[in-house]
Amino acid sequence: MCIFCEIIKGNIPSTKVYEDDEVLAILDISQTTYGHTLVMPKKHYDNFLLMPNDEYASLMAKAQIIANRLQNKLDCKGMNLLINTNEIAGQTVMHTHVHLIPRYGEKDTVEFKFNVNKFDLNEIANKLK
Ligand code: 5GP
Ligand code: ZN
Repeated sequence: MCIFCEIIKGNIPSTKVYEDDEVLAILDISQTTYGHTLVMPKKHYDNFLLMPNDEYASLMAKAQIIANRLQNKLDCKGMNLLINTNEIAGQTVMHTHVHLIPRYGEKDTVEFKFNVNKFDLNEIANKLK
């Protein structure tokens, strides 16, 4: 059973902030910051890598519309977009979704820490070509 598919079907309650034929946006039950929102395709994909490119593009275009609403109506000063992909990256619900995390100030209870490693950039680039 997929919890987000059940939410989309209306079998589990949620607080909706946007809905159309393809996409649903709900408030995250665990609000990291005020207005923390999840944007998801109505069609189930375990993660965004599995989505057809046009459906992914459409999802992100709608995420941008909702992000603008957060900016305009909640008066946040910025936001983080996050797509956790697979368990190793912290994905807990295996139905792809975009986190929109509004940012207000230094007291926001959210932290992204990037520790720096020294890798051979050319080696990486050659692998990706
Ligand atoms: P992930 O860790 O997979 O990127 O994020 C899953 C998110 O879904 C978490 O932030 C979690 O709080 C949220 N979540 C899990 N179950 C529910 C639920 O039943 N309703 C809502 N609104 N959010 C949920
Ligand atoms: Zn699902």
